[in-house]
Amino acid sequence: MDDSQLNAFLQNPDTLFTNPSIPRVFDWEKNDMALNQDKPSSAMDEDEEESSVDSMLCDSNSRLIPFGFSKSNCTDEIMMFINAGGEALNEADSRMKFLGDSYFEGGNVMQTNEHIAEAGDCPFIYQSARFGSFCYRFNNFPPGDYFVDLHFAEIINTNGPKGMRVFNVYMQEEKVLSDFDIFSVVGANKPLQVDDLRVSVKEDGLIAMRFEGVIGSPIVCGICVRKAQNIPVPQASQEYLKCNNCAADIEVSSAQKKLMRTKVTDKYEKKIQELTTQCQLKTHECHEAWMSLTAANEQLEKVRMELDNKIFQTRTLDETVGKQAENLKNITSRYGHDKKYWAAAVHDLQEKIMIMKNEHAQLSHDAHACAESIPELNKMVTGIQALVAQSEDLKLKYSEEQAKRKELYNQIQETKGNIRVFCRCRPLSKEEISAGCALVVDFDAAKDGDLGILTGGSTKKTFKFDQVYTPKDNQVDVFADASPLVTSVLDGYNVCIFAYGQTGTGKTFTMEGTDQNRGVNYRTLEQLFQIAKERSETFMYNISVSVLEVYNEQIRDLLSTSPTSKRLEIKQSAEGFHHVPGIIEAKVDNIKEVWNVLQIGSNSRAVGSTNVNEHSSRSHCILHIMVKSKNLMTGDCTKSKLWLVDLAGSERLAKTDAQGERLKEAQNINKSLSALGDVIYALATKSSHIPYRNSKLTHLLQDSLGGDSKTLMFVQISPSERDLSETLSSLNFATRVRGIELGPAKRQVDTSELQKMKTMLDKARQESRSKDESLRKLEESLQNLESKAKGRDQVYKTQQEKIKELECQLELKTSMQNQSEKQVSQLSDRLKGREEICTGLQQKVKELETKLKERQQSESASYQQKEGKLMTVSCLIQTG
Ligand code: ADP
Ligand code: MG
Repeated sequence: MDDSQLNAFLQNPDTLFTNPSIPRVFDWEKNDMALNQDKPSSAMDEDEEESSVDSMLCDSNSRLIPFGFSKSNCTDEIMMFINAGGEALNEADSRMKFLGDSYFEGGNVMQTNEHIAEAGDCPFIYQSARFGSFCYRFNNFPPGDYFVDLHFAEIINTNGPKGMRVFNVYMQEEKVLSDFDIFSVVGANKPLQVDDLRVSVKEDGLIAMRFEGVIGSPIVCGICVRKAQNIPVPQASQEYLKCNNCAADIEVSSAQKKLMRTKVTDKYEKKIQELTTQCQLKTHECHEAWMSLTAANEQLEKVRMELDNKIFQTRTLDETVGKQAENLKNITSRYGHDKKYWAAAVHDLQEKIMIMKNEHAQLSHDAHACAESIPELNKMVTGIQALVAQSEDLKLKYSEEQAKRKELYNQIQETKGNIRVFCRCRPLSKEEISAGCALVVDFDAAKDGDLGILTGGSTKKTFKFDQVYTPKDNQVDVFADASPLVTSVLDGYNVCIFAYGQTGTGKTFTMEGTDQNRGVNYRTLEQLFQIAKERSETFMYNISVSVLEVYNEQIRDLLSTSPTSKRLEIKQSAEGFHHVPGIIEAKVDNIKEVWNVLQIGSNSRAVGSTNVNEHSSRSHCILHIMVKSKNLMTGDCTKSKLWLVDLAGSERLAKTDAQGERLKEAQNINKSLSALGDVIYALATKSSHIPYRNSKLTHLLQDSLGGDSKTLMFVQISPSERDLSETLSSLNFATRVRGIELGPAKRQVDTSELQKMKTMLDKARQESRSKDESLRKLEESLQNLESKAKGRDQVYKTQQEKIKELECQLELKTSMQNQSEKQVSQLSDRLKGREEICTGLQQKVKELETKLKERQQSESASYQQKEGKLMTVSCLIQTG
């Protein structure tokens, strides 16, 4: 048995005790005699039925009372009444006084609110109890005899200890209750008194009461101690038993009593035996019953589970049914909605068909118009195609012409010579004028490039140059002759422009110029940008600038802001170009930027102390311009260099009084200038060996000296007689550079031939100019044509697209029309058939009508005849 089963059993003990033959509760009717105080058990007849109740009472004078405490029954003086497990209580009439639970040792308290049936005058006694292992000790009782009443109740429906309870009670260590089982006597929640338990108190005044559990723990609800009034004095040798029949006291000797007791014991033992076997049987029966119960329970569980399953299935079925119903509802509503929607859609479509019909009419009208305009369009297209072909042709011609122009231009340049020397003479300075210096230069034939130098007396030495500029010629005039070289740079040629001469003759003035009188450098770059801008439609230029200085055979980067100790060296690239790795190449996009760069370079030129001139005079100042171009039409790329060099002063050493460092400077200058002269001379005379490597300067300019490269040298001279020797020296150098004057054959140049050449040159120039003009015009017309062609192409395309669209629409419409026509013809056929049927029916109706009329007429005629006859008959009867 587990706890729940035990509980169930305790609450309803019938479930286990199915055999009615076993009395569960003491049957008071049957055992009345056992409880009858007038019939002491000692006097019981052997044959008489004795109950187990008797066996519980050890004191034959005590008795069991199966109901609660009644005041009226209590005549003795109550010494004390303990409400075990409860509190003290005083009755209102003060006759009864219940003490709280005291004098105990051990045990626990239990209380309930359950109703206790037949609880007598003081039911509360039975609603509390002490249970467990406990005893009571009452002190200070006067010696004498007392009665003790014990009050019990089996309080089952409380939280008290569960299970069976059988116990012994000892008073003054003498057993007064043996195997006492309250439940077996009165059942649950009913009071049971054991009254008149005798106790005699000795001199110590103590009443000791001990409760001892046999099965489970003992329990007690109340203890009442009364003063015994009339206790019959027990006889020492004789005892009296009362006869049940005659109520006479029968004397019993102690030997007899012993015999009786053994008899009773035997009888009880027999009974116990019987009961034990019976109990075993019952136990067996119980076990079987229990097993069958378990089986039944298992089956019940199974059935329950099945039922649960079924319930679950039913529920799921219900749910699915509900869902289906919901679905059905949804479908129905959707169907309704769809129906409405389709009706509207059909209506809509009908309207659309109407609109489309109208559109169709409009479109067919448009298509007709378009079809009419097709031949005109075709004409336009052929025209455009012709124009495009023409423009292609023109493009081709243009690029051919451009190539030719470049070639011609270069030829012109070459006819002028790839190495040209211009001589420029500065005006007398204020100082020279004030000093009254005489002029030694003769400009009479300057226009033809001839320059005369009065070398003293009447002797005059003449020099021939490509141009001679008098002191009156300004910067613009000088640049006008140099500018064609700029075009060559943009055409992809390398160009070098030098200024050579004695210090103070205007080299820097010619190259750099002043703020108001800008020199060749600035003007060259200005023109570069201008031409680049003009050609921007066909060419893309990328221009960058470096500013260098060669001093004592060392290269310095004048744009470098950080003064690096690293030596700049000339290197040859894989493609054969000479370059200086590490120099700054400032990219410039306009002339403003160029000016800033030139300023930076000019400012950073080192200035040393000298007695002749500035540092600049002892170093070569180089402006290096790199031009990268891309022909946007052909995709051709070129890379060209322009060098603008303000050379160091060419004055001879003696004049400078140089020593030490200055001497070294002068020697280096001398070396580099003569190397430059040698290189140019070697180029002019087409020598097999060009000594580029003789100086840093020529090495640096190697790519731009010789070959297709163009070289221009300005020889700067002073007009003063004081500088005569230097002037002559410079002019001699320049003449050598020019490389023409040296050979006697070249000196005797036929002037008529020259004239012819000049006229040819002029012609070529004019031709080139006119060609340029015509080219420009051609370009313009080409552009115009192209734009027109493009416009027409666009119109043509859109027209064609429209036509295609219209054609598509037309096809669609015609197919639709065909369909509708078919439908119409079908309908008209049906209509005809119906009409025929109708006319047939109408004819039949007419026929029937005529027949009806005829019949009516014939019938009315016969009626009239019959009437006439009847009238005559009636007349005859009347008269007769
Ligand atoms: P270099 O660079 O050869 O040493 P500069 O260019 O410094 O000579 O010229 C020296 C001086 O002569 C400057 O004051 C310059 O302005 C002046 N000068 C040079 N050439 C001309 C010229 N063609 N017209 C007017 N002044 C000139
Ligand atoms: Mg200078």
